[in-house]
Amino acid sequence: MKEKTEILELNAPSMQAKIYIGAGILKERLPSLTAGRKCFVVTDTNVYALYRPFFDEYFKDAGLFVLPAGEENKNFQSLYAILSAMAEAGVLRTSRLFAIGGGVVGDIGGLAAALYMRGISCVQVPTTLLAQVDSGVGGKTAVDLGGVKNIVGAFYQPEEVVVDTEFLKTLPLREIKCGMGEIVKYAALDGKFFKTLSENTDELSSLEFLQSLIADSIRLKAGVVERDEKESGERKCLNVGHTTSHAIELTHGFSHGEGVLYGMLLETHIAIQAGVCEKEYGGKLIKIIRAAIEVEPKSAPDFKNIKADAAKAKADKKNTRGDKITLSVAKKQNEWTTLTLDFDFYANALERAVKELSL
Ligand code: ADP
Ligand code: ZN
Repeated sequence: MKEKTEILELNAPSMQAKIYIGAGILKERLPSLTAGRKCFVVTDTNVYALYRPFFDEYFKDAGLFVLPAGEENKNFQSLYAILSAMAEAGVLRTSRLFAIGGGVVGDIGGLAAALYMRGISCVQVPTTLLAQVDSGVGGKTAVDLGGVKNIVGAFYQPEEVVVDTEFLKTLPLREIKCGMGEIVKYAALDGKFFKTLSENTDELSSLEFLQSLIADSIRLKAGVVERDEKESGERKCLNVGHTTSHAIELTHGFSHGEGVLYGMLLETHIAIQAGVCEKEYGGKLIKIIRAAIEVEPKSAPDFKNIKADAAKAKADKKNTRGDKITLSVAKKQNEWTTLTLDFDFYANALERAVKELSL
């Protein structure tokens, strides 16, 4: 099915970014994006292996860095290796970097573009559902350090984001589910999304259905970024489910998407307990989240020690201050808020949520 191309504009204070969305759109955009410029491509071993003929044809004169796939490579050593390869390839201030891959490639490639000669042109080409609906748009770049995710980075808007949905055809279901976590997150923020998802919970496992939500997801995210590029206020809404997700992802071996889904499930219950989220609305949201978790069901996670997991949320400095922890939660349709709780209240509420949700 050939879908139509959509062109969105992100007018962030630091820079305007054009976002092209469509099946096969990358090959249409490349001639003008590469003409008359030295280009440098960052990708990873999986994407390179799957799309080798494409790289050979469209980037035969470009510099290339193929990063070993995996979050564990999103570090300083890789960043140093990319910057060295760029210097060696003779990349200039006027050159353009293409980050073609999932969130890891986008984050580290974007940071390399931000740093090299104090910033060169960058085109983000997200190839996972997660990166297409979330991390590829918004200009956050980073590497991990000392086991802490994204602790070193910069806000650096790409000149263009090319969201080519053809890439999703090779994406494993586990990775599709990662993107679903963020799409369900948008349902907690936006009434239209909420309605579409609650009316189509049985469609959540269909790639075609998820693909039909990509442009609206990006529109929503781009709007939030435009209004609060540096996350001083509204952009915090995108952290829905994420405080608890960070606490449980590693311990339970969840992907980020699964972590966000369980995080949202627990945090929505906590928001209902705290009297912040409308009960009926929260119940409907929980139904959507549960349906998403049920896609590719795994053995049920063991949340017996959820209080110990909660302590990990405390270590995440972004959402804690002293003995308080902050969650971003849905209140009712089209409304969210931050909820700051005493840490003990949070830990107990988590335990109660696990029990009452029969997790
Ligand atoms: P994220 O899930 O944050 O977007 P990653 O960069 O970790 O980020 O990508 C997840 C995995 O999917 C990696 O193993 C990556 O190599 C692989 N991958 C990325 N794009 C594709 C694709 N289009 N088809 C198949 N695998 C892909
Ligand atoms: Zn996320």
